Amino acid sequence: MTRPRGKYWDKEIETMPRKKLEALQLQLLKEEISFAYKNSPYYKMSFDEKRVRPGDLKYLEDIRKFPFTDKKVERDRQLAAPDLGDMLAVAEDEIIYVSASSGSTGVPTLSPFSAQDFDEFQDVEARLFWGIGMRPKDRYLHALNFTLFIGGPDVIGAQRVGALCIWGGAIPSERLLFIMKQFKPTITWTTPSYAWFLGETALKEGIDPAKDLVINKIIVAGEPGGSIKSTRDAIEKLWGAKVYDFYGLSDIFGANAGMCEEQNGLHLTEDHHLLEVLNPDTLEPVPEGERGEMVLTTLKKRARPMIRFRTGDIITVNEEVCRCGRTHARINIHGRIDDMLIITGVNVFPSDIEKVVRDSKELTGEYRVIVYREQHLDKFDVEVEKKEAIDIPDKKLAEEIRRRLKSLLGVSPRIKILKENTIERATHKAKRVIDKREKVWSD
Ligand SMILES: [Zn+2]
Repeated sequence: MTRPRGKYWDKEIETMPRKKLEALQLQLLKEEISFAYKNSPYYKMSFDEKRVRPGDLKYLEDIRKFPFTDKKVERDRQLAAPDLGDMLAVAEDEIIYVSASSGSTGVPTLSPFSAQDFDEFQDVEARLFWGIGMRPKDRYLHALNFTLFIGGPDVIGAQRVGALCIWGGAIPSERLLFIMKQFKPTITWTTPSYAWFLGETALKEGIDPAKDLVINKIIVAGEPGGSIKSTRDAIEKLWGAKVYDFYGLSDIFGANAGMCEEQNGLHLTEDHHLLEVLNPDTLEPVPEGERGEMVLTTLKKRARPMIRFRTGDIITVNEEVCRCGRTHARINIHGRIDDMLIITGVNVFPSDIEKVVRDSKELTGEYRVIVYREQHLDKFDVEVEKKEAIDIPDKKLAEEIRRRLKSLLGVSPRIKILKENTIERATHKAKRVIDKREKVWSD
């Protein structure tokens, strides 16, 4: 790469005024829709069924005329036309990489990339890494799983930046800490709960991550924690490092949105993705700033275009120009629709519970939510750990936490105060919600 780089990886694209960016999106969207219709048997069939043609797309809003896709469509089309499915829009000879993600049904869904797709994927990763301030002088420890997982190859983006890259992979925490001491990486990437677990494990082994290691930036993804300020603050304090949240999905890119150094929302790479934020029930757009489901359309993917892909993630979006100067919209992720609990008609996100727990100085920050049904009413308990040094009686503290939760959630859970270190610490994704409701009904 000979291009001079300053604050931005790709200044023209990243700071493009919104009007111009939307014009670029429209041009790319027209090409993507036509390409999909012409080359993918599935898209031809689904557009024909809905009696919509590529020529019907005159403005960006016209995307709403086109049918949705989702994880189920992806899986069904793969089963209908093995092995790569008929959403595919190029010959198999042109595919150079597939990742796979396992679903609850046990059928792994494949995500195919052409050489050009893969190249663009890595350019996006490089842009996101550059955006958090990664530079060639950095050493980067990639601690994500390499086996079939889309996040594995993201390390190539860091190599594009010019950082010294260590392909760590998903390895036991003692080994990871050894690598951190030995190779002195300055940046790493993991899940928020693992960053917490690893930091605590280090302390137990007599290593103070903030003093004895030189990690100064941690990228997190895969759980809402990275977008919750109090969770980020706790990890930052433990590590003496800045924490940046990234977002990705195996169906498109390893990461396609990431925080910049302002840490105020994740910039979506809008030259690659058209964003819709829809009410998941009515599928109508929600006003800017309100919560809705993120629906993405790829603008450049050729191996398998994704048109109106329902991600199942609930976000809010902010289109204001960021203080960093980037114009691409910033998203905040609140959780998955599947994670959302409906408690007596009120939507409750575990991420909101997490916010209150992490903000409460009397608590360790660990928590568990138990949902159950009592006399046909949904109820939930929140189990939290009181810090050893705190002298408030359990009953009084429980009442105080309940009041804080009520003011944010609008519903009042029962609070159970546990001793420090009672809740099992997660090594990967934390299972924080235990839903016992199905059992109650079948009893
Ligand atoms: Zn920014």
